[in-house]
Amino acid sequence: FPSRLPDVGTTIFTVMSALATRTGAVNLGQGFPDFDCDPALPEQVCQAMKRGLNQYPPMAGVPALRQAVAKKIGTLYGHAYDAESEVTVTAGATQAILTAVLCCVHPGDEVIVLEPCYDSYAPNIELAGGRVVRVPLTPGSFRPDFEAIGAAIGPRTRAIIVNSPHNPTGTVWTREEMQALADLLAPTDVLLISDEVYEHMVFDGRPHVSASAIPALAARSFVVSSFGKTFHVTGWKVGTVAAPAALTAEFRKVHQFNVFTVNTPVQHALAAYLADPQPYLGLAGFYQAKRDRFREGLAGTRLRLLACEGTYFQTVDYSAVSSLGEAAFCEWLTTEIGVAAIPISAFYADGREQRLARLCFAKKDETLNLALVRLTTL
Ligand code: PMP
Ligand code: GLN
Repeated sequence: FPSRLPDVGTTIFTVMSALATRTGAVNLGQGFPDFDCDPALPEQVCQAMKRGLNQYPPMAGVPALRQAVAKKIGTLYGHAYDAESEVTVTAGATQAILTAVLCCVHPGDEVIVLEPCYDSYAPNIELAGGRVVRVPLTPGSFRPDFEAIGAAIGPRTRAIIVNSPHNPTGTVWTREEMQALADLLAPTDVLLISDEVYEHMVFDGRPHVSASAIPALAARSFVVSSFGKTFHVTGWKVGTVAAPAALTAEFRKVHQFNVFTVNTPVQHALAAYLADPQPYLGLAGFYQAKRDRFREGLAGTRLRLLACEGTYFQTVDYSAVSSLGEAAFCEWLTTEIGVAAIPISAFYADGREQRLARLCFAKKDETLNLALVRLTTL
């Protein structure tokens, strides 16, 4: 039968992780930590299971978790979401974004994405029958180009997907940039899907400016978070969406026939764990130290470092090292040098070549050291 996604193959993250495993390379490709989470977390999951919290939770999520998330957003970003009608627990950010797209995009609607962008956005829009409108971030700096975004907004524009802190380039939108987006959208009814999965990994004292912190944006936004990134549990696949009640009502119509609910004991564990803000407030310092150690090591190589304001990704320009295309370079780096990376071209529909590769530093210090020893041979 005709494919719904004719141009889609296996994701680059799966491909590079498989190659890293096969070749024994240090895997700095797919974004996940190689260290475990706080043992208190699985302990709390076990306790919830032993307490018999093993049946379906409410469709929108365990109330205690929704309340904890609403409280966190209120404290950090100053927007008071109603836990009952405005916060939904999802099966990670991936399902959150797909569900947000499915609930608002009608066939023929346009959705703007800012390239390079996470690989699930475009297929999500296509599955909804929407048209993907790609606007490049400013080449080199990867900052938003509001003139280009404004020019892309038309009568069929239904939504824009924004991701800050940004995977793969590590840029973090400033308050002025978020405000500029609010100003641009003000005369329109364009919705914002704000992918904020790296919200707690922002460095050098910068703030994370959530869409929820700008009232004009909060009123039109699905704000997406993921516990996988924040608590080092990417395999748990639990996230949240905060959105005004009217948007949440539409979101839940799709959510209930999509996953219906998310793992009960894990939600109870996360609710209890969120009572202490230290683990997420301490995350920026934890990853900043890894970023600094990694960048210091890379400074001795011929790789040119792009700025890394947030996330756990460092993008490098390898043009002084090799004239290979990005995919070929990352494959060579994996098989010959023993370090797996992700080509930035994978985040563009046209696969454009800029001689850039992404390295994930969410790794134990010894893993980073081993990678640096290998990369220093470049
Ligand atoms: N958005 C971005 C920008 C991501 O990097 C990721 C995964 N790393 C996701 C969404 C998906 O998150 P989750 O694993 O919670 O589905
Ligand atoms: N988000 C992670 C990354 O960017 C990987 C997620 C995935 O494997 N799909 O590397």
